[in-house]
Amino acid sequence: QVKQAGGGAYRLFDAGMAAALIRRRVLEADLRDALMHNAFDVHYQPIAEIESRRIVAMEALLRWTHPTRGSISPAEFIPIAEASGLIIPIGEMALSRACLEAMHWPPATRLSVNLSPAQFKSETLVQSVVRALEASGLPASRLELEITESVLLVESRDNLAILHQLRALGVHISLDDFGTGNSSLFYLRAFPFDKIKIDRSFVQELPTNLQCVAIVRAVTGIGQCLNVATVAEGVETEEQLAHLRKEGCTQMQGYLFAKPLPAEAARKLFGAWQEEEVA
Ligand code: C2E
Ligand code: MG
Ligand code: MG
Ligand code: MG
Repeated sequence: QVKQAGGGAYRLFDAGMAAALIRRRVLEADLRDALMHNAFDVHYQPIAEIESRRIVAMEALLRWTHPTRGSISPAEFIPIAEASGLIIPIGEMALSRACLEAMHWPPATRLSVNLSPAQFKSETLVQSVVRALEASGLPASRLELEITESVLLVESRDNLAILHQLRALGVHISLDDFGTGNSSLFYLRAFPFDKIKIDRSFVQELPTNLQCVAIVRAVTGIGQCLNVATVAEGVETEEQLAHLRKEGCTQMQGYLFAKPLPAEAARKLFGAWQEEEVA
């Protein structure tokens, strides 16, 4: 009897796995299609200085509306794009589009673009960054590339060299989702990052969770010591913001300030600024 139940459970589990696998396969084919038909969109979320509330950068975030399944989260399609290698052309597309868009923002505003570890496998990564900058006219100093800790995993020794090449172009390098990978502090020693983004999971429970309070204090402290900007990701409440300000965190990003917006709506965030400048 037990065996029978076990067998049944096994078959159910198997069917679920098969369904997930099929969905992945289908989505992979659809991603290929979306790339061909330019069906992706790029949204932009501001990163603001905590003290002045001034927008210092905008992060480009990919959006995909599937023809029949509707909006699909990057959390689902980015891993599929990474596993299939499609992230390389998709990433190049996102980067070049975002660079063109950033030319419509005030010149002091930087553009932040995510790079996934799989893009470092492409031999043309540095070249495609150069091309995106040249094609748009965006100065390298206005581009920030966000990488996660996994880019610096031991197996990929060359990635460090690529990061240095990108830095040599004048591009800034940010460490995204800090604290979620393995031996986080090791990475801070491996490369001199320009910015540390404190993962949302630590910001979410401020100021009640003592562990989160301690971690955020430690990371902002490291930022101050290294003279590196620290960005709190996923700031949703005034209480979190007040705590972050008190701790000396320098920049914020999150729904409290603004959600990721379509290009046109994002441009409007600068409306008042431009009018002031002209007047
Ligand atoms: P990420 O780079 O850490 O981006 C931050 C994510 O947090 C975004 O999710 C953003 O919409 C979300 N977020 C921002 N503020 C808040 C908040 O206050 N509350 C909550 N709950 N969430 C907030 P999104 O857009 O779904 O992107 C997820 C991830 O997908 C990104 O995480 C990034 O790793 C990846 N991704 C997105 N676009 C690209 C891209 O063009 N290239 C690559 N390689 N990865 C991308
Ligand atoms: Mg990011
Ligand atoms: Mg992040
Ligand atoms: Mg993330």
